Formats: sequence, structure tokens, C-alpha cells
Amino acid sequence: MEKTLFSKIIEGEIPAERLHEDEHCIVIKDINPQAPFHVLVIPKEPIASLSDAKENHAALLGHLMWQCGQMAEQAGLKGYRVVINNGRDAGQTVDHLHLHILAGRSLTWPPG
Ligand code: 5GP
Repeated sequence: MEKTLFSKIIEGEIPAERLHEDEHCIVIKDINPQAPFHVLVIPKEPIASLSDAKENHAALLGHLMWQCGQMAEQAGLKGYRVVINNGRDAGQTVDHLHLHILAGRSLTWPPG
């Protein structure tokens, strides 16, 4: 199977600004930020999308969500949004599950 873009970043083949790494995930700055604070929480296991996650991924999914809270606390964010784009119709462009954390500007609801 061909490596995903994010697997190449995880393995250091493609550079990225890394804010955190542990045995399960990395956190990097988004290359095309949609808010003053925009980072991606990416599991090391290349699950293609949330739809592809299985029951045995439940602990990993929990870890990723928990990590979002940790990153927000570390950055001193008061309000922030966590987004998963699932599938092309929802705007997913990289087929390796990732959680966006967006903050630093007013975030409208409903999202576009
Ligand atoms: P998606 O649209 O799949 O939910 O999000 C993919 C995100 O990855 C986009 O926000 C895009 O800007 C970001 N991205 C794409 N290529 C790169 C890259 O090479 N480096 C980094 N740091 N972010 C990337």
C-alpha cells in the first residue's frame, strides 16, 4: 500500500512543524491554516477516515480527542473547534484520519 502524505510526515520524509509526538500520534501545524491556530492531530496508524475506524480503534480515537484538549491547554486556548472531515463531500483531502484544531478567530456556526 502506498504511504499516505501524513505517513511520510510521520516518518520524516516530508518536513512539518511538529508540536507533539507520542507513541500513538503526532501534532503538526497545518500548511494552509484556516485560523490563527490550526494544527492537525494525526494517528501514526494510517486509518483512512473516521468511517474506516473499527471498534478496536476506540482507545486510539479517545487518545486523539484527549490530545486535542492537551494541545489546547498547552496553547492557552479558551475557545476552539475540533473538526474531522470525513469523505470528499465533507472536504476530506488527505486519506489518513486527522483531527483539526482551529482557534484564534471567531468561528461561525453552522460551519460552511
Ligand atoms: P482535510 O481537508 O483532509 O480535512 O485536511 C487536510 C489538511 O492537511 C488541510 O488542512 C491541508 O492544509 C493540510 N495539509 C496538506 N498537505 C500538507 C502538508 O504537506 N503539510 C502540512 N503540515 N499540512 C498539510
